[in-house]
Amino acid sequence: TQILLCAGGACISSGCESVRDALLREIKANGLESEIEVITTGCMGMCEIGPMMVVSPEGIFYQKVKPEDMADVVREHLVKGCVVERLLYKRADNDELLRFMEDIPFFKLQKKIVLRNCGKINPEKIEEYIAVGGYEALGKALTSMTPEQVIEEVLTSGLRGRGGAGFPTGLKWKFTAKESADQKYVLCNADEGDPGAFMDRSQLEGDPHSIIEAMAIAGYAIGASKGYVYVRAEYPLAIQRLSNALDQARAKGLLGENIFNSDFSFDLQIRMGAGAFVCGEETALMRSIEGYRGEPRPKPPFPAQKGLFEKPTVLNNVETYANIPYIIMHGGAEFAKIGSGKSTGTKVFALAGHVNNSGLVEVPMGITLREIVYDIGGGIRGGKDFKAVQIGGPSGGCIPKEYLDTPVTYETLPTLGAIMGSGGLIVMNEDACMVDVARYFMDFIQDESCGKCTPCRIGTKIMLDLLNKITHGEGTEQDLEQLEFLAGQIGKSALCGLGQTAPNPVLSTLRYFRHEYVEHIKDKH
Ligand code: SF4
Repeated sequence: TQILLCAGGACISSGCESVRDALLREIKANGLESEIEVITTGCMGMCEIGPMMVVSPEGIFYQKVKPEDMADVVREHLVKGCVVERLLYKRADNDELLRFMEDIPFFKLQKKIVLRNCGKINPEKIEEYIAVGGYEALGKALTSMTPEQVIEEVLTSGLRGRGGAGFPTGLKWKFTAKESADQKYVLCNADEGDPGAFMDRSQLEGDPHSIIEAMAIAGYAIGASKGYVYVRAEYPLAIQRLSNALDQARAKGLLGENIFNSDFSFDLQIRMGAGAFVCGEETALMRSIEGYRGEPRPKPPFPAQKGLFEKPTVLNNVETYANIPYIIMHGGAEFAKIGSGKSTGTKVFALAGHVNNSGLVEVPMGITLREIVYDIGGGIRGGKDFKAVQIGGPSGGCIPKEYLDTPVTYETLPTLGAIMGSGGLIVMNEDACMVDVARYFMDFIQDESCGKCTPCRIGTKIMLDLLNKITHGEGTEQDLEQLEFLAGQIGKSALCGLGQTAPNPVLSTLRYFRHEYVEHIKDKH
């Protein structure tokens, strides 16, 4: 018998470590140590109901477990074979008790490629990653594929950058491979900074080897021998597990010299970011790794030509890399069958806000917002009405109720004034004030603006002042016009993506909820 106990960040916060200690104590007290294996895993996804555990081979799923429940779990379930009913998941809509993880709609409707190992293996043991096929893709690439074939496979997959911009990953690799240089670099952007987003943290905490393997494959494809993972210092557990995984990979010869007896050598280092949102922008991230203040610079030159230390560089985010081993093992064409049109594969979202089931979800591209919010998310908390969903973080937009049946793809979201972004998805109920939402994101961006260029430094400050004025009931119709004018100017003239997309939450709320702005104005006059 195996017990998988979720030890993702959220479950650790809700006490899974004391649950594990109590479970081990009870197992010992009942003399079952040789029969039961307890595995602490990465995030299982449904953070709302943690700590959670799965008892296999039966596959019984227990939620909200506490240390004091462990005596019952061991005595009733492990000794007598009876399920502990009070710890089963109860469907909110019909009171039905569900015994198995795969019966719970939250899990059933997902498609896991990126998160394939999260919640299933112990992220601190390389043997467990290898046991589920880990490092086979690297072995395959190094022993039976040329770098060009690796790139071709990634191109065929149609994989696009999951960090927000959606640039084709294979093309990025191809451009960098073409450059000749004495040194090239592979970088991973794990500087996840969108409010409400925790996809990359969970991936690094739950399956760090998948990123190491993918970065080594990228290194082989473009001809790089060095790489860096840039991860925010606020993610200590992710850093600890990644660092442990790097040591283990080196000890097994999967990083370092002559990997898989080939002439390919590759190694990785971690660089910690100090929490500046702008360091998620690629050129700022590289400056930060170089030891300078993390400020964006104009492009071109693009990182493929002049990136880190002026050398050709590939930079992808955590989720993008997590797809690579699957693509190499199953083929780009197989990957391209998942999703919709030019948006292939899956997307991981951090589902948060006024939704019943919050947590981490991975869904095929092309799924509708309604399916995410209602079928997976279980609808709006407290039986309230849905009002809007903020997708794409501070660079994204708010999508109202009438577009709930829109398929989520890179192509459709911009037509609604939003973007895919990195995967923050905040659901809002009927009581949410959309002017407040816009003000919140503008406050965030204004705070995070690096100040290098005037449109962003001054423009976002003026927009924030106007929004403050409106939310205090002191705004005028002219203020709305000025907001729109500034939004257009900043979008066109700011130096980097942070400034260029800063007006998006204001523009999308003005587009769909202008009447709320007008009401704030009317209230006072
Ligand atoms: Fe800095 Fe904003 Fe200009 Fe980007 S747009 S360089 S964050 S001031």
